[in-house]
Amino acid sequence: MSETRPCPVCGGVERRVLYRQRFRDGPLGDGYDVVVCRQCGAGFAEGIPSQEELDRYYAGQSKYTYDHAEGAESPYDFKRFETIADQLIPFLPSRETRILDVGCATGGLLSVFKQRGFGNVLGIDPSPACAPAARRLHGVEVRTATLAQLAGWQESFDLILLVGVLEHLRDVQPAVRTVAGRLKAGGLLYCAQPDVTAFADCVNAPYQQFSVEHVNFFSEASLNRLMAACGLAPRQTWRWMMEWREGVTDSVVSGIFAAPPAAEVLSAKSQVSRIRPSPTAVPQVSSSRPSAEAPSLSPSPSPIPLSPHSLPPSGEVPGSIPLRRGFGGQESQVPRNQPSPTVVPQISSSVPPPAPPDRETEPALQRYLAKCGVEDLKLQPIIEQLVRNQEPVLIWGAGTLTRRLLESTRLTEANIVAFVDSNPGIQGRRLAGRDILSPAQIAGRRETIVVCSKAFEREIVETIRNQLKLPNQVITLA
Ligand SMILES: [Zn+2]
Repeated sequence: MSETRPCPVCGGVERRVLYRQRFRDGPLGDGYDVVVCRQCGAGFAEGIPSQEELDRYYAGQSKYTYDHAEGAESPYDFKRFETIADQLIPFLPSRETRILDVGCATGGLLSVFKQRGFGNVLGIDPSPACAPAARRLHGVEVRTATLAQLAGWQESFDLILLVGVLEHLRDVQPAVRTVAGRLKAGGLLYCAQPDVTAFADCVNAPYQQFSVEHVNFFSEASLNRLMAACGLAPRQTWRWMMEWREGVTDSVVSGIFAAPPAAEVLSAKSQVSRIRPSPTAVPQVSSSRPSAEAPSLSPSPSPIPLSPHSLPPSGEVPGSIPLRRGFGGQESQVPRNQPSPTVVPQISSSVPPPAPPDRETEPALQRYLAKCGVEDLKLQPIIEQLVRNQEPVLIWGAGTLTRRLLESTRLTEANIVAFVDSNPGIQGRRLAGRDILSPAQIAGRRETIVVCSKAFEREIVETIRNQLKLPNQVITLA
């Protein structure tokens, strides 16, 4: 845990606390405050570990290690990748476009670009398990590297992808600036992350958006403000809903942002040298950005159509930084401004347009909290019964939901014999004083199994019945 975290979007230090999320034995601490910045309105988690601690955590995680399919992506993943490719490809001038996917996991998204004729691709991921898996599964080159290491590279790219990354970072602006520094003049950054303004429309367990790993809650407005602060001009943004597991949905805000073209960089540099005598007035090259020619990003006045069965996101399995967890197949997508099939070169600019304040995030978080409060009440009778009966139970799932319930409800008073989780990364560890077992270790046991995961509920029940062929009574909590 560390000192007060400045707003990741504007750097402001005044915030309003909306909610305290608590975890029992959380791998990244015992919880955090969900706050909104009083200066710009962005939503984020306060009271989280340092970026160095987060980096160490993610380097030790791997989608590959917990995925039954040995790193292979699910059909939901590929539906999401296809959506992303659909959004991006109209902006790419050539099939030679040099593409870097930061936090690429096992390379599934890059494989989709390859299939569509864009073969000049590279991925990086902090987890060492990803590179061999990406080669084996997709023939995609992946290097084991962190965002921080990217800063030391000399290579530059036409397009850099940050999918499911920004919501995991403590130090967001330095990360975006690092990525922007690896873009060619006029190059594009594409990012996609959960959309806080539609949290209440997602289907998942209550409070799951405030997962162990997600520490930034972006809206379209806060995303645009962040990118502008890092010298990147908006080209187009989308808000969409995706299904990332059967019956479990996640909201997404994605966008394309452009680095200044060469002419503008030169112009900004000459401006810097001219003005240098005044130490207080030196314009930073990185702050030159969106010009008046950039497409308008005025918010759409019409409500975003969401799927009737839209649900919540935030997986509870740990994954490496860009673990494409929180993302599933898209249900609907709504472009937020006019498509711009080609990148419009910006000759002059340097006067950044004022980024609009974020007036949506706080009311959206309040709506989400109200909904979660109601849904959490529905779990109480099951938990109360477990406490009353004192029947010995195995709890399957040692992720965000379980750790929250152990800390925020009487679940810890139930007669929990052990926990079960298919993530090898946490098997053998302890939670609330009990062992975390592998699925294989519960063969022959007779205790009732309580499934404590919304996102993986169906998979877990199927594993119990069809793979392990266990006759145990099963209770689903979420
Ligand atoms: Zn702020």
